[in-house]
Amino acid sequence: MRDIDHFIGGESYSSGDRTGDVFDPNQGSVQARVRLGTAQDLQRAIDAAKAAQPAWAATNPQRRARVMFNYKELIEANMDELAELLASEHGKVVADARGDVQRGLEVIEFACGIPQALKGEYTQGAGPGIDVYSLRQPLGICAGITPFNFPAMIPMWMFGMAIACGNAFILKPSERDPSVPVRLAELMKEAGLPDGILNVVHGDKAMVDAILDHEDVKAISFVGSSDIAQYIYARGTANGKRVQAFGGAKNHGIVMPDADLDQVVADLTGAAFGSAGERCMALPVVVPVGDETADRLREKLIPAIEALRVGVSTDPDAHYGPVVSKAHKERIESYIQMGIDEGAELVVDGRGFRLQGNEEGFFIGPTFFDHVKPTSKSYQDEIFGPVLQMVRARDFDEAVRLPSEHDFGNGVAIFTRNGHAAREFVSRVNVGMVGVNVPIPVPVSYHSFGGWKRSGFGDINQYGMEGVRFWTKTKVVTQRWPDGFVEAGNKDAFIIPTMG
Ligand code: NAD
Repeated sequence: MRDIDHFIGGESYSSGDRTGDVFDPNQGSVQARVRLGTAQDLQRAIDAAKAAQPAWAATNPQRRARVMFNYKELIEANMDELAELLASEHGKVVADARGDVQRGLEVIEFACGIPQALKGEYTQGAGPGIDVYSLRQPLGICAGITPFNFPAMIPMWMFGMAIACGNAFILKPSERDPSVPVRLAELMKEAGLPDGILNVVHGDKAMVDAILDHEDVKAISFVGSSDIAQYIYARGTANGKRVQAFGGAKNHGIVMPDADLDQVVADLTGAAFGSAGERCMALPVVVPVGDETADRLREKLIPAIEALRVGVSTDPDAHYGPVVSKAHKERIESYIQMGIDEGAELVVDGRGFRLQGNEEGFFIGPTFFDHVKPTSKSYQDEIFGPVLQMVRARDFDEAVRLPSEHDFGNGVAIFTRNGHAAREFVSRVNVGMVGVNVPIPVPVSYHSFGGWKRSGFGDINQYGMEGVRFWTKTKVVTQRWPDGFVEAGNKDAFIIPTMG
């Protein structure tokens, strides 16, 4: 059985005998064991980071950017290997796994421009002989705690930015698909990153708590489910750290009566069922405006959903693969039962799906509910599976209200040909990321990513210039080079200086 070890100080490191099973979701069998680390293992990573970080921070930004350029090339050269490894532990199809790596790589590309992004501001002559300027300095040692569903993209969002800014980084990836994060760190070493600047420690709650409580960790970025995000935010900030913690989601797709329904069906099936619905920017709720729109959409959706092909992650014709674990499959199926019990109409039932030759794999067929009530728990909770729920809205105002009043506020989309309706929706909806005729509005790397309400705790988004702000602290310098001396005892020196 393959063991997946920590990566500390530029080398593989193993200690202790606590391990977790890593599954092959296609087969439903254990394929590897991941080390579940302790506070002592974290301390080893902190020691490595502490030894390396001052020199890295003092390395000029252009040289740091060069490592990012090398890394970009290495990721591209290893794309197939990374995507296959990722798919084998996560279960998403290989083409989608390539997208996972690619969306992380795009943040690395942004990080290649870090010298420009780190430039401060300067005011000459803010007062007599006085200039003011600001610096962005790294925080020191930072950490990232990441979910199973994007084992390449989300770690790269975090460490790409943090490292380019001059920090050392400790990554605690999901214990369910930990191989790719280790491979990403090995490739960073190959790109020329000094040992100790990027460390990977594996583990569960014990390791996370050790990170939250360690005084040398100055900032934590977390992505995962909302209850854990809130816990991370509360405990991390109570310990004086800077924390951003992104949580779960229940994204709505609003369909206006004038929308191009064929396009909506194509977009919606991909966004609801792609990656088996295990995306925080999936669209698991569709909200047609008016019964007439709902009926027309439903008629087109049913055959499109029934035509979806579920297969192993290496099947090039599969639309999506298995979900990540048996427990998650059972949880999704229990939500399907809950939907029925709550009185929604189960139009397409994906339960009981078995793939020939892979009977033990964690597969679920696509599932579609109509007439879902906003008061139902299956609507209010995140299901995170291949389940699409239709909630019919009477009018535009109700369609704006549904996502706005939902506990989660990650993403939302509106499908329409009416520019005024779209503009009104964008301005009124209480959600962090909005798509207009774009089903999965994950912003490009030079903007920034972040949900609202229970989808995001903290104030600063991921990546882009927001990422630069999160991973640095601002120092503001006011300097004077006086022309001659000001005599001691001058009464002006006792009055607070103003620019008046
Ligand atoms: P999760 O919350 O179970 O795990 C995330 C991380 O937290 C993992 O590294 C895990 O080891 C750690 N963790 C788990 N339980 C813990 C505990 N009790 N105490 C401390 N740490 C703990 O999430 P997941 O199942 O891996 O990922 C899916 C979730 O992530 C979904 O809710 C999804 O919406 C969310 N997600 C959000 C975003 C976003 O940007 N908002 C992006 C991707 C995924």
